[in-house]
Amino acid sequence: MQLQARVLCKRSPDFFTINTLGMETILNIPVHKAETVATHQYDLNKLPFGKVPTSHLFLARYSAGEWADARIEPFHKLSLSPFALCFHYGQTVFEGMKAFRMHDGNISIFRPAKHHERFNRSLERMGMPHVPYELFLEGMRLLIATDAEWTPDSPGAALYIRPFVIATEERLGVKISDEYLFLIVCTPVGPYYARPIRVRVETNYIRAAEGGTGYAKCGGNYGGALLPTKEALDAGFDQVLWTDAGRKEFIEESGTMNVMFIIDGILITPPVSSTILDGVTRDSILALARDRGITVQERLISYHELEAAFGQGLRVEAFGAGTAAVVAPIESVTIGERTYNCYLAADAAMYAFKTELEAIRAGNQEDPHGWNEVVVCN
Ligand SMILES: *Cc1c(COP(=O)(O)O)cnc(C)c1O
Repeated sequence: MQLQARVLCKRSPDFFTINTLGMETILNIPVHKAETVATHQYDLNKLPFGKVPTSHLFLARYSAGEWADARIEPFHKLSLSPFALCFHYGQTVFEGMKAFRMHDGNISIFRPAKHHERFNRSLERMGMPHVPYELFLEGMRLLIATDAEWTPDSPGAALYIRPFVIATEERLGVKISDEYLFLIVCTPVGPYYARPIRVRVETNYIRAAEGGTGYAKCGGNYGGALLPTKEALDAGFDQVLWTDAGRKEFIEESGTMNVMFIIDGILITPPVSSTILDGVTRDSILALARDRGITVQERLISYHELEAAFGQGLRVEAFGAGTAAVVAPIESVTIGERTYNCYLAADAAMYAFKTELEAIRAGNQEDPHGWNEVVVCN
């Protein structure tokens, strides 16, 4: 990939400063604009998640050991050979992030460097090539700038960003692909009114085992979770609480979110490991909790400990943490035959985390950790 030195103008739609990277270079990424940009034909409050693509996409190709051919194009379908390796052996990795319209009209993305690090960790685990940060960030900035009118300005709404890499070499034999596509696509999302969810502790199926791929955002992890989740839905629950593969006692994650408990004022969450995804929301909430002087424990927590806490009548808050919902309050936890109710009243600490994170991202509150990266200036 050619790095090109330029004098940069933040206000120009096609060139962006990347002073956050500490250098005065940008990638030369051509933009092929769509003839018409059909925004605002949707009602944000009724939009089903992930259905409406924005007008453009970002695309780069990997072959002969390097990324090349990066560009922005009108959103289009892909043409791939049925022999493409991604259809057969699961070399697919993705990220999920959001861009926000701030109160001053600027658009920022939330902690892109942390998402990028995880993207590369996932890619590495799947034997896939790293994506350089410059390519990741510049591709994303340029796409968001090109599709700027798609970033909603209503409170709580956002532009959901999905970077992903797929193996495209045409070969039916099992092997590491020598060719890949890196794409970024976006979709507007309305405010997420997280209805409290009912979860059950899963002790039959597992999501991840030590040494496996649980910490990676690779497609197979989600495919394998669909059936257990469906069985939980059929039994009247909203999600499963995954347990460890060895003893099936220690709580790992809540569906596709990290899980946190606040028991008697102490925030407890399982430590990141090879089976638990290193969530950006998880990390951000832990930082906010520590800022507030709340005791944080990153440690194993078994369902026996939960049973004991509920049994003693302790105040137990439980919630999922992830980019989509930020905080998904858990209403009840079912362990075997017994269902325990969690604390959901308005003074629960989990709501304060959600409110604070949202205020930081909207630019309504100071951003002491420097999490917002402004990518488009008003
Ligand atoms: C994406 C994801 C999360 C949450 O990560 P965020 O960075 O907070 O969005 C948690 N668990 C799993 C399994 C995930 O795929």
